[in-house]
Amino acid sequence: MTIDNIIEEIEKAENIAILTHESPDGDAIGSSLAMYLALKQIGKKTDIIIPEYSKAFSFLPGSEDIKKQGEEEQYDLTIALDCGDIKRLNGYVNYFESAKVRISIDHHGSNTMFADYNFVDPASPACAQVLIFILETMKVTITKEIGMCLLTGIITDTGGFKYPGVTVETFEFTAGLLGKGVNVSDIYKRVLQIKSKATFELSRIYNNRLEFLEEGRVTFSYITLEDQKKVDAKEGDHEGLVNIGKDIEGVEVSIFLRETEKGFKVSMRSEDTVNVSDVCSVFGGGGHPRAAGCLISLSLEQVREKILNEVKRYIK
Ligand code: 5GP
Ligand code: MN
Repeated sequence: MTIDNIIEEIEKAENIAILTHESPDGDAIGSSLAMYLALKQIGKKTDIIIPEYSKAFSFLPGSEDIKKQGEEEQYDLTIALDCGDIKRLNGYVNYFESAKVRISIDHHGSNTMFADYNFVDPASPACAQVLIFILETMKVTITKEIGMCLLTGIITDTGGFKYPGVTVETFEFTAGLLGKGVNVSDIYKRVLQIKSKATFELSRIYNNRLEFLEEGRVTFSYITLEDQKKVDAKEGDHEGLVNIGKDIEGVEVSIFLRETEKGFKVSMRSEDTVNVSDVCSVFGGGGHPRAAGCLISLSLEQVREKILNEVKRYIK
């Protein structure tokens, strides 16, 4: 059974690296830090290696230990968290592949099962929620600090407990954290409510460019590298924009393009019926049925046309 294998491999390993996906969101950071603190608690030498991430998460316990590069040539064990596809480990694929043993813990239905041991639960609304079971099975004490990290993942990936994927466990766990003295309200405010000035400026641009297509059932907008430079956008400042287009009456699919050095990063959200993970997988991406993404290295016009043609097939 995978959970037994995971626990056995963690016990055997002397040095461990924790990795997550590029452009890490709250679930990626929160899950990684929770696992890091758990491994420290049981006395494991662990590196947590994460590229640029939003400073909104720097209040989280353990974040001061996050490294941009690992210290070992080769790790006994690497654990990828919240990552559905090895490609998304981006510049860190080497750490993953060169390790003696590789584990993936995730909740993406589109997970490509790229590790030696894959613990993937698509029914879980956040990777952080998958970790509750894993940490409990490892006999780790869920401290206030670990709880704060897990809660960050849960709050960001459930849109503040409002997506349909939330379960009884989501609320029971959160209630338990309140009992441990975790300031749920403060975390909610930090990770979901307060926006940076640059995010606000990007949302003006996003709103101005928003198009209604397919009789108002699809919205489309984008931001360029130039826009991001103009507002001095930092990692994570685009988070949430795609939801603006989705939360408008009658809209089923919201499409948001963000220009990067490597091409256009596509973010898609759907309200009810369209499986956007299927749409994005056509372009080598993936995600969840209601939230997914992919990277397309073509011009803005070409990306727009390709994505819209694919989405139209699903809009009846
Ligand atoms: P976002 O639009 O917030 O960047 O991503 C939405 C969801 O899709 C997240 O769960 C994210 O991990 C996943 N996702 C985004 N881009 C990609 C991609 O290029 N490949 C895969 N497999 N998943 C992606
Ligand atoms: Mn996630």
